[in-house]
Amino acid sequence: MYPKVIIDPKKYAFNVDYITNLCHRQQLSVMAVSKVFSNDPKLIEVLDRSNVSYIADSKLENLMHMKTTKKKVYLRIPALSEASLVVRYTDMSLNSELVVIDKLNEVAAKMNKRHQIIFMYDLGDLREGVYYKDFSLKDIKHILSLSHIELKGIGTNLTCYGSVIPTFETYEKLKNIKDQIESNFKIKLDIISGGNSSSIPMLMNQTLPPYINNLRIGEALILGRETAYQEKIDHLYEDVITLEVEILEIKDKPSFPEGELGYDAFGQKIEYVDKGMMKRAILGIGRQDVSLNDLYPIKGITFIGSSSDHLIVEIAEGKYHIGDILTFKLKYGGILSLLNSSYVEKTYV
Ligand SMILES: *Cc1c(COP(=O)(O)O)cnc(C)c1O
Repeated sequence: MYPKVIIDPKKYAFNVDYITNLCHRQQLSVMAVSKVFSNDPKLIEVLDRSNVSYIADSKLENLMHMKTTKKKVYLRIPALSEASLVVRYTDMSLNSELVVIDKLNEVAAKMNKRHQIIFMYDLGDLREGVYYKDFSLKDIKHILSLSHIELKGIGTNLTCYGSVIPTFETYEKLKNIKDQIESNFKIKLDIISGGNSSSIPMLMNQTLPPYINNLRIGEALILGRETAYQEKIDHLYEDVITLEVEILEIKDKPSFPEGELGYDAFGQKIEYVDKGMMKRAILGIGRQDVSLNDLYPIKGITFIGSSSDHLIVEIAEGKYHIGDILTFKLKYGGILSLLNSSYVEKTYV
């Protein structure tokens, strides 16, 4: 049945190996981030067989059900209420709240386990982490005093909310924190986790500072793109996951609606442009499953609009027929929504 998502585990394996080798050559360990493909078992298998050191996900449910021998990392800052699940089902988590870390320690003690944490600092992107100007040795002293928590390292996240691109200057803020922690407590932090797919350009140019020794990478592995400048990464596959949809209707119709105009199916006022008559087709996919902004257009097809279950496009004259299957490459949000839809079939190459 259509719509159908086509997953190519071999292409994914190629991307994973390529990026992992690149990281290893620069002494960086890799946390492969799986959150975008919602625990797809075949892609997890690829990661399991790869040389990545960890599998990381922002959904606890995914980690709970994930079958892997790799160490599991919980990426989203844990909720206080889920502390015992975090300790039970993951090996490491990214943290920024001492109350939560205390709770993790308490439940870890009860389970007779040690839970590893990466303490997160916000260098200006303004999502998770202690704001770097509020760095306090007291926080670290407290964490180091906990019996069942191991401070595995520190980390930062960039280019997620504030669109801040990793640079040497930004990373110096993290280095400053690392140096203060290491010299004051006479310890060596194992992991300095420098970010996500937006650090790939610095990786490729070999400009990542040497104290950064870990990256958490999702998008680059699945889409073959870095996220600082949104450029394709040479040699990598961009089509690990593609979407197939069927043409349901083809009609010649005007481009401008006829009658008194109000709101569309989603309560929005739309500006329509009158381009005269056109060849229009309806594809069997809609906003419930994917936003049309998350599909890459293909030659001969122009997106016009969509409702819950219909995608309306303009098509080239004479090229397409009812029942034709069109294949689209996807953006990040498209993979995310399609792989989480129960109305979209999944198949493997
Ligand atoms: C999603 C996420 C990543 C991975 O980001 P990509 O852009 O997919 O590489 C890394 N770290 C954290 C904390 C995340 O939430």
